[in-house]
Amino acid sequence: MKITVLGAGVVGTAAAYHLAADGHEVTVIERHPEPARGTSQSNAGLVSPGDATAWASPAALKTFLRGLYNHDLGIKVRLRFDPYFIAWSLRFLRQCTRERLRANSRVKLRLVLYSRDCINAISADTGIRCDERKKGILYFFRSQHSFDTGTDNYRYLAEHWAADRDRRPRPAGRA
Ligand SMILES: Cc1cc2nc3c(=O)[nH]c(=O)nc-3n(C[C@H](O)[C@H](O)[C@H](O)COP(=O)(O)OP(=O)(O)OC[C@H]3O[C@@H](n4cnc5c(N)ncnc54)[C@H](O)[C@@H]3O)c2cc1C
Repeated sequence: MKITVLGAGVVGTAAAYHLAADGHEVTVIERHPEPARGTSQSNAGLVSPGDATAWASPAALKTFLRGLYNHDLGIKVRLRFDPYFIAWSLRFLRQCTRERLRANSRVKLRLVLYSRDCINAISADTGIRCDERKKGILYFFRSQHSFDTGTDNYRYLAEHWAADRDRRPRPAGRA
């Protein structure tokens, strides 16, 4: 099949790679002169199961609200009358309960474990290296409360780590 993929970020290129591996004729169209000039250029590069805690949480709810008026925060929220943004914000806020945090973090943990396998498989198949580091991540907490919340979240991920690691799907190999 002839398939066109719009956008050469990580999602477009990975989709094109797997479609091509499945025997399709794939063309990737990117509006910038080079690939990965959008969000994929500027992210933190973390594909780390230990960092799989979902962003939507009771704490994020406060950050979201503070971000409306405090523009010194790392995460800022600019209010605008965009129906898509408003609908997205309402969906995000609905996920900010402790129960949803737990459920979403568990799903993210499985997704990160799978994603890491996929990156390693592509690296092994193509010889393309990314600047991966495996020395862990150092987190600083500014208050006892955020430290307690953070360790509680890490403990939850650690409890499910082994079970999710063994149950995760395997990435498809190159055809
Ligand atoms: C500050 C920050 C930190 C992050 N840190 C992490 C992290 O540590 N770990 C992690 O896993 N994720 C992280 N993310 C999220 C991650 O970067 C994104 O989920 C991912 O890059 C999205 O990839 P994408 O291919 O969907 O989008 P993009 O990389 O934005 O790619 C979309 C591409 O489509 C092109 N495009 C759009 N419309 C058209 C069109 N009409 N025609 C042609 N081309 C078009 C754009 O130019 C762009 O190149 C972070 C994000 C941010 C903002």
